[in-house]
Amino acid sequence: MAHLRIDKLRKSYGALEVLRGFDLDVPSGEFVVFVGPSGCGKSTLLRAIAGLDGITSGSISIDGDDITDLPPSDRGIAMVFQSYALYPHMTVHDNLAFGLKMAGMSRAEQKVRIDASARMLQIDALLDRFPRELSGGQRQRVAIGRAITRDPSVFLFDEPLSNLDAALRVATRIEIARLKEKLPDTTMIYVTHDQVEAMTLADRIVVLQGGRIEQVGKPLELYHRPNNLFVAGFIGSPA
Ligand code: ADP
Ligand code: MG
Repeated sequence: MAHLRIDKLRKSYGALEVLRGFDLDVPSGEFVVFVGPSGCGKSTLLRAIAGLDGITSGSISIDGDDITDLPPSDRGIAMVFQSYALYPHMTVHDNLAFGLKMAGMSRAEQKVRIDASARMLQIDALLDRFPRELSGGQRQRVAIGRAITRDPSVFLFDEPLSNLDAALRVATRIEIARLKEKLPDTTMIYVTHDQVEAMTLADRIVVLQGGRIEQVGKPLELYHRPNNLFVAGFIGSPA
């Protein structure tokens, strides 16, 4: 279970205030998609949730426990980026195992986690390969698989498909939809600028502008009843 709560989150880089008091409540197991123009603060928000960047003020909690000051490794949060960030000199297996080894997990437990994750992402046959021997789509599946081995309660995706060509993007999107079904208790936040990804994956869509929420709602609510032209431009019906 992972009920994620973000309260009055503020984040500035120098004089630039990127997040200006951001509030969001994400019930356990919900799949929330963030959309919004480039530079509106989507990645900043994900990095703040993951603990990769300090914040100016505000708080983040999971199931009522304040995690605002915890280091990234203690938050139970995994993040997948646009670039796959695999270790090039390690096989797929060793990429999957690395974080588990660092966490001091026994070999037997590592094997259970890696087998389950490899099966889920259909990368079992690739375990002995090196990243350079994989397609972009396979690399991204390995990156997602690596995040899953850590059994996160919250999963963050930052435009995970945007480096893939159109066909791979569709295939990997379907993979992520499957993942959502297989991990119904895992809370997921997914950033994209692709309307199809947002409409097909989201339980709720959050439309951001200038570090603030313009509108939040179920995909069809936003599609049929956007609050304004800005939201309509991202999600709304062309009529
Ligand atoms: P998005 O992911 O929505 O495109 P970002 O969260 O990456 O937007 O960036 C939001 C704003 O913060 C942008 O104006 C960007 O230039 C700025 N920014 C992001 N990271 C840094 C940083 N490390 N230092 C200074 N400014 C940054
Ligand atoms: Mg970004």
